Amino acid sequence: MGQGLSCRAGTSDETGELFIAAQSGDLERFEALLEREPSLLDQSTVYDKLSGLHISAGNGQIEVVSSILNRYVKPDILNRHRQTPLMLAAMHGKISCVEMLLGAGANILMFDSLHGRTCLHYAAYYGHLDCLQSILAAARSTSVSDSWGFARFVNVRDGDGATPLHLAARQKRSDCVHLLLDSGALVCASTGRYGSADSTPLHLAARSGSMDCIRELLAWGADRLQRDASGRIPYNVALKYKHGACAALLNPSSAEPLVWPSPLKFISELNPEAKVLLERALMDANKEREKKILKGTAYSLPSPSYSDTAIDDSTSEATDAELCCICFDQVCTIEVQNCGHQMCAHCTLALCCHNKPNPAAANTNTCQPSPVCPFCRSTIAKLVVAKISTDNDMDTDISPSKLSRSRKSRNCNEGSSSFKGISNMASFGKMGGRSSGKIAAESDDWIDKQ
Ligand SMILES: [Zn+2]
Ligand SMILES: [Zn+2]
Repeated sequence: MGQGLSCRAGTSDETGELFIAAQSGDLERFEALLEREPSLLDQSTVYDKLSGLHISAGNGQIEVVSSILNRYVKPDILNRHRQTPLMLAAMHGKISCVEMLLGAGANILMFDSLHGRTCLHYAAYYGHLDCLQSILAAARSTSVSDSWGFARFVNVRDGDGATPLHLAARQKRSDCVHLLLDSGALVCASTGRYGSADSTPLHLAARSGSMDCIRELLAWGADRLQRDASGRIPYNVALKYKHGACAALLNPSSAEPLVWPSPLKFISELNPEAKVLLERALMDANKEREKKILKGTAYSLPSPSYSDTAIDDSTSEATDAELCCICFDQVCTIEVQNCGHQMCAHCTLALCCHNKPNPAAANTNTCQPSPVCPFCRSTIAKLVVAKISTDNDMDTDISPSKLSRSRKSRNCNEGSSSFKGISNMASFGKMGGRSSGKIAAESDDWIDKQ
């Protein structure tokens, strides 16, 4: 993989000139050459059999790509390795060319002869999130979803059994891992031959030592106990490659992370903003867990996002604001529909997420009760970002401190009566890392101030 796109060797002068123009994006020169000799467009480089379309697409020369496609060249022309121009554009992250080729009807279900990979594998392996997004969008809207099914395409395997998710995890592409999971990639798929035989994405993330990928996979319910063909769990792999902090998270005796419940179904009921808030809350909660796991080990915490300072800031600003009536700790950011009750993202997660069940138990009890509103016990139809009326601009900034300014809380009076039913939720107030010892005692106080 990763072969160059050089185009000079062994071609006639004019063909070579054409390819150089395609590579550098010299449209004027390119078209002048074709005017003189239209058959040049059928030429390819001697060894790699790269066409002008491959060269221009792989180099992101959108004008040349457009000029070629306008001459009725088929977008799925193949080079020596049966790679399409779309694969090369996805490999090099040339998003505008990817989109133009998709728009011209490029087939996303072509397999190269190197590793039997598709354009989706290329985008995931090289970590080009935008290209991955475009290809997935095309997969939803083109005939692929009819003939193959979208879910099957997301989990398409290369010649060694690797799905795009396996490759993204192996290459530390955590944002691609996230998008693929969100699009229906199977978190526990085994590879077949790729990597160590029967590796899961979690094995491959452990191999690469990517904490971010491990977090994403665990939050999606990846199984720390799944074994590869040599009987190793991901923890063994992380140890072998000396990724100590990863090993600590993957150690089966470490605390389980919070995971999304029956993930796809639930998330489809969220609106995008609410989803962002919940994802953030889930990640915060899991980072708190990481802190505890890594505390006292030799592994320092590299990211400033671990620091408490940002959280403390928002807390101090939020003290005079409408607090969540479940934890009295965080600002209400999520509204339950249709009843309209509000709570914070952490408490919403606590309702809807759960610690990963023991796999044996999960087999006998696969259906989880659908989440209900803690205030009125009605079924949650949808979760949206709590509406606020700000006196300044109606911006899209959904930081808790902003939300706190001028909102009228709705639930507290009616909410406190149903506290007993949700008293087991109190511990979740700690997910964000702050103490929540002030639950019921202060509630009257607080309501009086309204
Ligand atoms: Zn709360
Ligand atoms: Zn309600």
